[in-house]
Amino acid sequence: EAYLSIQGVNKTFDSFTALREINIDIQKNEFICLLGPSGCGKTTLLRIIAGLEKPTRGRVAVQGKDITALPPSKRNFGMVFQSYALFPNLTAYQNIAYGLQGRKFSQKEIGDKVSEALSLVDLLHMKDRFPAQLSGGQQQRIALARAFVLSPDFLLLDEPLSALDAKVRAKLREEICNLQKKLGITTIMVTHDQEEALTMADRIVVMNNAEIMQVGSPQQVYDQPESPFVADFIGSINFLAYWSHKGNHPLAHLAVRPEHIRISSPGSGFRAVVKHMEFRGPFYRLLLQPIRELKEMIGNQLLSVDISSGHVHKLNLIKFAEVSVE
Ligand code: ADP
Ligand code: MG
Repeated sequence: EAYLSIQGVNKTFDSFTALREINIDIQKNEFICLLGPSGCGKTTLLRIIAGLEKPTRGRVAVQGKDITALPPSKRNFGMVFQSYALFPNLTAYQNIAYGLQGRKFSQKEIGDKVSEALSLVDLLHMKDRFPAQLSGGQQQRIALARAFVLSPDFLLLDEPLSALDAKVRAKLREEICNLQKKLGITTIMVTHDQEEALTMADRIVVMNNAEIMQVGSPQQVYDQPESPFVADFIGSINFLAYWSHKGNHPLAHLAVRPEHIRISSPGSGFRAVVKHMEFRGPFYRLLLQPIRELKEMIGNQLLSVDISSGHVHKLNLIKFAEVSVE
């Protein structure tokens, strides 16, 4: 049985449909990413799981028990948002302790729990700092510590890394994954960043226009996309119509990733003109214009092809390239 189950959830705001027939079964300790473009309904779904929003139709269950009508305060979850949302007038320590006050804990127990949470995010030495005295990454680690100090049944993260710069973001990605595995907290993270979803999730729920497009492991959604949308949203892809010599209709529609097209040695591939060459660091993205046989097959569609930067110096790519598909 699923730990957290979202069943037939629909959400409309007046006549606007924000979520349509959402079904997801989440296992205990799983790290799920809700991935999709801005406005597709990710935050709305997370808010329904938190109880901050009521579904128009459908239900949410934890271990088989219907919690759809349960208020947020009765659901045991921790939540972290894009903006750090720390209390500016409280220290790091006090921010984390805040949610523990007024519960059944003694001051000693609260002290121990907060210190442990601070150690987990490696910020014990900054416990007396106010949010304004912490960097963005540090503030977000305090927000995380504040979320899991309550030993929540599940952790809800809404674009928690979007406001951070690239280096800090990559570091925190790793830290969140490690913490999540170590503490074994079932986690649902919203992101519009495919790289974040691919690197962090056990399973990705790809959403578009209020609907789920595909659910699968990072490898599944990347290697076996079930729709052109998923193929295009995660990674890059060439959509090609494949023409016969004389027909008016394409024989087939192909989708080929840029890294699956090889530059072949002279005489062994199809000729194309190099229209553009873009440096991307570890690789170059080439834009190729088909000529001759390749043009007869795929028409004038430009081809994106990635080649490792380490290989570029060996190739004479100034004007022409020969390509073949792996
Ligand atoms: P995402 O998080 O994927 O960017 P949201 O879940 O925030 O998307 O929003 C999905 C759609 O629902 C958007 O078009 C948004 O404008 C709309 N929406 C969200 N909340 C409300 C609301 N309270 N009232 C009306 N429309 C809303
Ligand atoms: Mg959102």
